[in-house]
Formats: sequence, structure tokens, C-alpha cells
Amino acid sequence: MALNLIMLGAPGAGKGTQAVRLARARRIPHVSTGAILREEVAADTAIGRIAREQMARGDLVDDGVMLGIVEERLSRPDAREGFVLDGFPRTVAQAEALDGFMVGRPPLIVVDIAAPEEELIRRLASRRICGACGRDATPLDGARGRAATRCSRCGGPIVQRTDDDVEVVRERLKVYQRQTAPLVEYYQDRPTFRAIDGMPAPEQVAAAIVRAVDDVQQQRAANSGDRP
Ligand SMILES: [Zn+2]
Repeated sequence: MALNLIMLGAPGAGKGTQAVRLARARRIPHVSTGAILREEVAADTAIGRIAREQMARGDLVDDGVMLGIVEERLSRPDAREGFVLDGFPRTVAQAEALDGFMVGRPPLIVVDIAAPEEELIRRLASRRICGACGRDATPLDGARGRAATRCSRCGGPIVQRTDDDVEVVRERLKVYQRQTAPLVEYYQDRPTFRAIDGMPAPEQVAAAIVRAVDDVQQQRAANSGDRP
């Protein structure tokens, strides 16, 4: 059964990791709008130039540009069996536009990974990256003992992200809350919405997401008389 999924979650909740993981398990594309924007900017495409101008003015990239990117990506053949959307929608206006685009496709399943603010701050403030190539060097599970001091890709030094000190992190979380609370309200009454506890280890969160998705798809199959 095709799986059209939106992954919501605050910075630090593990949304990106879980999105990659689920997409790989289901063999469907992981559609990260942040990654697409970075590629468009790097390749200096028409969209990339518009996005760069808007970001240079300190604005968010506008809904029209974002929806254009998402529509184009979800129209490709590899997304026919589904997708995991990561970083989109960010606003209710984007969510409404996405619903319009989804007419005639299996309904969106919305997974919201939640964790208390103090836990998000703790995770974000302990985030480390490679100072040379920028690779993420954080083992979130903490079970692997001492953190590496050298990058596994390029051998560069592992440093703390400069934008991850506690005050900056608090502000990012506030912005996220302001933008996303209305989005959760927009989706939460749907039978395809599931809230997931982001506190356990990543493996357990991943298992909870799989159970939630199976549950939604079984209910849909039961309601439509199909087999899952
Ligand atoms: Zn590196």
C-alpha cells in the first residue's frame, strides 16, 4: 500500500533520523525540503536564486516557492508508491496547499514526534559536528561510550555547533512552537494523525512509528474492505 507520510517534530526530536530510516525501510523517497533547497541554491537554479534572495533578506522562503518544489518532487515516478516528507509543511497555508495537491492519492499519514523542551535543549546543546566538512557527529543514543574526536569521513576535528548554545536553541524551539502548534491543530483530528513519544532510544521510536503506520493502514484497509 502506498505510504504518503508527513513527519513533524521539533529540532532535536529526531525527526530527520526517523524520516530517513522509515523511507529506507519502505523503499520510498525521503523528501527533505531543506536538502532540496540547499541543492537548488548550490546548483544556482531559478528556484535556488529566488530562495537565496529571500533567505538573504532574513525571510523564510515563501509558500509558493516551497510548494512548487514539493509538487515537482512528489510528481516524480519514484514517489508514486509514497514518500516521507521532512521539513514540509511548516505553516497551515502550506498544509492546505498540500491537501489540494494530494486529491486522488491515498490520504496523508501525519506523525508528530514529541519530546519535552528540556530534553530537546539537552540534545541540541550536546550536538557536535565536524569542523571541516560539517558532518553530524552526534550519537544520539549515547550508548556508544565516548564521543569521537575526529570526523569519520574526513578526519577533521569534532566541534560544538556554533548556533547550538542554549539561548539560541531556546529561541529556535520557540519559533518552531509558534509555527507548528497551529499545524498540529490542523491535523490532529484526522484518523491518520499519530503522536509519537520521542523520549525513548531511536530504535524504540522507530518501532513505535512503524506500529503507528501499520495501525493507520490496517484501519483504512478495514474501512475500505481491502486487505492491507
Ligand atoms: Zn569531516
